[in-house]
Amino acid sequence: MTMSLLSTDQISSVKALLSEQRRIVLTTHTNPDGDAIGSSMAMSRYLRKKGHEVTAIVPNQFPGFLSWIPGSGKMLIYEDNAKACQKALQKADLVFSLDYNALSRVGALTDILKRTEAPRILIDHHIEPETDSFAYCFSTTNTSSTAELVYDFMELMGDTDLIDREIAECLYTGIITDTGSFSFSANNEKTYRVTAELIRNGLDALKIHRLIYDTFSENRLRLLGHAISNRMMVWDDLHTALIYFDKNDLKQYNYKVGDAEGIVNFPLSMEKINLSILITERDKKMRMSFRSKGDFSVNELARKYFNGGGHKNAAGGTYFKSVKETIEEIKSILVNHKDDLNYKVDY
Ligand code: 5GP
Ligand code: MN
Repeated sequence: MTMSLLSTDQISSVKALLSEQRRIVLTTHTNPDGDAIGSSMAMSRYLRKKGHEVTAIVPNQFPGFLSWIPGSGKMLIYEDNAKACQKALQKADLVFSLDYNALSRVGALTDILKRTEAPRILIDHHIEPETDSFAYCFSTTNTSSTAELVYDFMELMGDTDLIDREIAECLYTGIITDTGSFSFSANNEKTYRVTAELIRNGLDALKIHRLIYDTFSENRLRLLGHAISNRMMVWDDLHTALIYFDKNDLKQYNYKVGDAEGIVNFPLSMEKINLSILITERDKKMRMSFRSKGDFSVNELARKYFNGGGHKNAAGGTYFKSVKETIEEIKSILVNHKDDLNYKVDY
């Protein structure tokens, strides 16, 4: 477990920082997911309620199935609106870094963020946070999600009374999307206690679940079918399955941001599979998602070979080769890890 929590003195100084009206910018990682957007929008509403001027920035577009999230339509998207993002960061008194552990994770925003003078507060649950980059680090891997940590942060600030239905919906979005609806990373009783508190504060858990998981387009569901029927390779001796989408697949199914979300998890439902990989062709590069069950660390795999990282059982990365070369190279890398992949998860 990696952990960097706030000391009593730091809690007091963050409280002092937030006791006066500030211009605050919220940032989150490239290809933002439910936890990134949910945490940002919960913080945004919370800080506004405390009287601050808040701008939330995302490096690039977020999935359409998150567009119902209260406030998400007002976020600034750097790839569409760089000037406004730069301006907000220049004027900021304080920056929050949500759901990422290193400045490089904000992609095109990295350099601007490095140049911004305002102190940065990290709230995150990834392994090995880049602590030197942040004035304050509120970070542990021993949690379900950044959203749960955002709840903890509000509690540390003595502000749980500010949690209303909208904030609860945002936080619940982060919790369920990062835990596959409580199927992984949700082994602490606290996650359920926080969820109970959110329900007490007006959350309709069933409604949020439906908004996230029952709003597929027909193309999105057919892309899943195509993935499993036609694009899944299974390497029994490596206990690994790999799904790939090339540009034509994405075109054929009229791919929209977020349509491949969750697909990488399906192969793990086979008993024999310990590692699942999804590669998606983007402009001149491959976007990669890794999932494992049991001991095999996809964080280490992604860091070592694929310019990425994440968590032990869920990570991502980027590779600058063709689909065919990427698959061949993944396979030859995994052959060298054959023994590490050869285990039966003991439940
Ligand atoms: P996903 O496969 O859903 O894109 O990402 C899974 C997890 O890995 C998420 O927690 C995400 O933050 C992290 N992750 C995804 N891509 C990268 C990457 O390129 N670098 C690092 N360090 N983490 C990543
Ligand atoms: Mn997260």
